[in-house]
Amino acid sequence: MTQAEIGLIGLGTMGAALALNIAEKGHRIAVWNRTGSVTTEFHATAGALAANVVPTQTLAELVQAIREPRAIILMVPAGQAVDDQIAALRPLMGKDDLIIDAGNANFHDTQRRSAEAEAAGVPFVGMGVSGGEEGARHGPAIMGGGPKAAWDRVAPVMEAISAKYQGIPCATWMGPAGAGHFVKTVHNGIEYADMQMIAEVYGIMRDGLGLDAQAIAGVFESWNQGPLRSYLVEISGKVARAVDPDSGAAMLDVILDSAGQKGTGRWTAIEAQHLGTPVPVIEAAVGARNVSSRLAERKAGEARFGAGPQKVDGLTQTDLEQALMAGKILCYAQGFTMLAAASETFGWGVPLPEAAKVWREGCIIRSDMLGDMAEALTQDDKRNLIFAPAFAAHLEKTHNALRRVVAAAALGGHAAPALSAGLAWFDAMRTARGTANMIQAQRDFFGAHGFERVDGGAGKHGPWAM
Ligand code: NDP
Repeated sequence: MTQAEIGLIGLGTMGAALALNIAEKGHRIAVWNRTGSVTTEFHATAGALAANVVPTQTLAELVQAIREPRAIILMVPAGQAVDDQIAALRPLMGKDDLIIDAGNANFHDTQRRSAEAEAAGVPFVGMGVSGGEEGARHGPAIMGGGPKAAWDRVAPVMEAISAKYQGIPCATWMGPAGAGHFVKTVHNGIEYADMQMIAEVYGIMRDGLGLDAQAIAGVFESWNQGPLRSYLVEISGKVARAVDPDSGAAMLDVILDSAGQKGTGRWTAIEAQHLGTPVPVIEAAVGARNVSSRLAERKAGEARFGAGPQKVDGLTQTDLEQALMAGKILCYAQGFTMLAAASETFGWGVPLPEAAKVWREGCIIRSDMLGDMAEALTQDDKRNLIFAPAFAAHLEKTHNALRRVVAAAALGGHAAPALSAGLAWFDAMRTARGTANMIQAQRDFFGAHGFERVDGGAGKHGPWAM
């Protein structure tokens, strides 16, 4: 039998879709799954693609089915499962054989695994894959990290299976160990923020403007024809349009308002804090998911203090559209600044324009705006995106709408933490004389931490009356 070009472990939602995608692009793939019957079933239902799939029932069989030097993709849950699989696989593999962890690993784990692989003299790649099941099946965005030579070996397959933006593959090497998973983590943080801001605007339309789900669907559909055109705005229109077959009610009205998370948004917020780079919109989005899950407390709060959201006056749909645009620009500006900070701290050399380009298609945050961001970063990847001429002009046009929306939300009792955080950051970023002088004075008062003077004079400590 012809040997497979590549292998894959973990035929769950993502692994199965990715394996079919690889087979469809003409690359023979050997697969193995912990539960053997899943492998058998996968092969039996692969249709015409089954000819390009080699099902295996043991790890040894999997390894033997792949031609040397081998490359095996892991698509199992992040964490211990990855370590266990690596430990089980390595003794069966040769020195040049490559393991690619394509799950949502924490980049610290990827750095550790990369260091372990390097010490053992074997190649390891950590690879972020975005786009959910549909993306994995028909074209995800792929962010590779690890030794460049190892990535180059598998790049042709990754490029073939990835999404294409105007014919350009959305699969790129982001830098050495950990860089790929870090870029994916920031992608997910931005995804949390994008989703949260859409949810906040949805809430204002529902509770503030009194629009029903069908009307809200119409608004999202119309926004998706303009500058906000994006996958998330598109699917927001679709979910608002959907009707529950059981009750006939709008699907949105029967879904509990308690959001789940797997942790990548939280990792973004945590790493941003470690790096000392502000991502307040993402932090607000992560916090909002946590608040959403405290349903009983929120019910008690409404009973004790009265319902928050009230009708709002004077807001137009254009205000909401522009507020979303401004919030999005601010959030992405924070995200790219964070990527730049991590790249510098870890010495990765992440190509920021390439990260923006990879996100233009296939992934959850794909949007028209990312094309413009890629262009702006190509012109100057050191500059905060809010200062890129195109985005500065956008912000000049939209920040007052963001202000009106945040003000109306605050007065009307609508929680809009992500939009508010974006606005506060924007205002802080255009305040040359801020208020941290008070903080410095307080720190000096209680801790003798010292301060610098505006006149450049030797200030050091204040004459505080204790
Ligand atoms: P699923 O739960 O659908 O599948 C998990 C797969 O891993 C199954 O094949 C399962 O095998 C196997 N597995 C589970 N535990 C172990 C273990 N301890 N040892 C070996 N194999 C194990 O997960 P997904 O496909 O959704 O996710 C896989 C990875 O991809 C995760 O890291 C996830 O975060 C990431 N990801 C997921 C996305 C999504 O939209 N779902 C998007 C992007 C990334 P078995 O059949 O035996 O249970």
